[in-house]
Amino acid sequence: MSVLTKYIRDIKDFPKKGIVFKDITPLLKNPQTFAEVNRILFEQYKQSKIDYVVGIESRGFIIGAALAVQLKAGFIPIRKKGKLPYKTIQKTYDLEYGTDIIEMHVDAVKKNDRVLLVDDLIATGGTLRACAELVASQGAELVDIAVVVELEFLKGRKTLNPYPLYSIIKY
Ligand code: AMP
Repeated sequence: MSVLTKYIRDIKDFPKKGIVFKDITPLLKNPQTFAEVNRILFEQYKQSKIDYVVGIESRGFIIGAALAVQLKAGFIPIRKKGKLPYKTIQKTYDLEYGTDIIEMHVDAVKKNDRVLLVDDLIATGGTLRACAELVASQGAELVDIAVVVELEFLKGRKTLNPYPLYSIIKY
């Protein structure tokens, strides 16, 4: 297993009972491990001609923005409903209980833009699936979806299908 896993902390019963939350703040705090994550992702995508890194609120912003600078790509945020100031397009998706809505600015991506979607972690895959559909709905080319952590036992990769997924650390 990667040395990076030592910097991912398990928080039991957060944000609610029965969930083991993978806390990546120690990994971000350590300059070597934060740089290593960035290096791995840069190596993976440096030839991919990415126009925009789309990051998902909020930890996807941290990983995605650092990567965008290195790839010489732009950065685009996807946020929870009501946070973005300009006109938005939306996607509603199912949670364990109820639904949630994510948004992206209407002029954020356009047809044929080469997009890399980034988040810190994939659990059930519902959030990333909704984000992938939002990006694809604009005619952009979703080159790949990248996360630092994949909780394989939750089968998010299957939920994402046919969208691709790259992950650094698997549990
Ligand atoms: P999901 O839609 O189930 O794939 O959930 C993905 C989003 O929820 C990501 O943005 C994660 O940051 C967060 N998340 C879900 N489960 C966990 C977990 N066990 N540890 C840390 N973050 C999680």
